[in-house]
Amino acid sequence: MTTEANPVFARGDRPGGPLDHLVGSVQTRQIGSLRVHAIQAGGQRLDGGAMFGVVPKPLWERRIPADDRNRIQLGMRCLLIEHAIGLVLIDTGVGNKENEKFCDIYGIENTGHQGPTWLEDGLASLGKRPEDLAMVIDSHLHFDHAGGNTTRGADGVIRPTFPNARYIMQRREHEWATHTNERTAASYFPHNWEPVAASGQMELIDGDREIIAGIHSVLTPGHTPGHQGLLIESDGERAFYLADLAPTTAHLPLPWIMGYDVEPMVTLETKRRILTRAVDEQWLLVFEHDAKTPWSPIILDGKGFGLPK
Ligand SMILES: [Zn+2]
Repeated sequence: MTTEANPVFARGDRPGGPLDHLVGSVQTRQIGSLRVHAIQAGGQRLDGGAMFGVVPKPLWERRIPADDRNRIQLGMRCLLIEHAIGLVLIDTGVGNKENEKFCDIYGIENTGHQGPTWLEDGLASLGKRPEDLAMVIDSHLHFDHAGGNTTRGADGVIRPTFPNARYIMQRREHEWATHTNERTAASYFPHNWEPVAASGQMELIDGDREIIAGIHSVLTPGHTPGHQGLLIESDGERAFYLADLAPTTAHLPLPWIMGYDVEPMVTLETKRRILTRAVDEQWLLVFEHDAKTPWSPIILDGKGFGLPK
């Protein structure tokens, strides 16, 4: 990774830069009385076939073109919420602990200017430091969602990135991540959560609940059995952080399900249930891996679920 590839952080869109494929490093809006920021924690490139499961390439490449290694450009978007308890962060990107070969295979571009990764740069652009965070919520523990939970310091020691935060994870996801098999192990690295457990900052929760006022966990199984989305509610407005239930806007059609999902038929039913609620209750959906679109409401028309025209 070269430093030239890194963006200069500023609020709002950042058109025309060397990483124009990742629009906007930090975008800000209100959900009711809560101020929320979408922070682009980095770019990654994953195999287009794996990202769209049974959907043939001639269809998916019209939505997101593939590079010469058949990979598509994705982002790793975290959500920072200014809450009465303090700053709350949903997901943490991939972090700084993986080696060069790993970053090449997955096309990871996230080296920071002001901190270890783009995530810390995004926080800095908002005038915030990792020490300021009160809570981190992991949608699940895959490396591109929970990798930024911990940081390798200049001394080589791996520590929690956010020393004053409680880290909230689903117990079922933690079980799954700590009991891997040949198909699931490549996505789970214990250094992304073990230092958090060791420091006493990890809190495991079970299923759907109000974590703090206005922020609810919603179990959304399929991608993994313990995968959760986060529903944010304030003054009658609602936003939903989908994580890997629908990683990009191209994944809104029900059968466009990732090959990575461990229970794709469960994903299908979870998507049907959640996207139906999103339309009925006019949720703003947050797309974690979409390189361009951070958030949008959705509609249901004759063709199925999609973005408003
Ligand atoms: Zn995942």
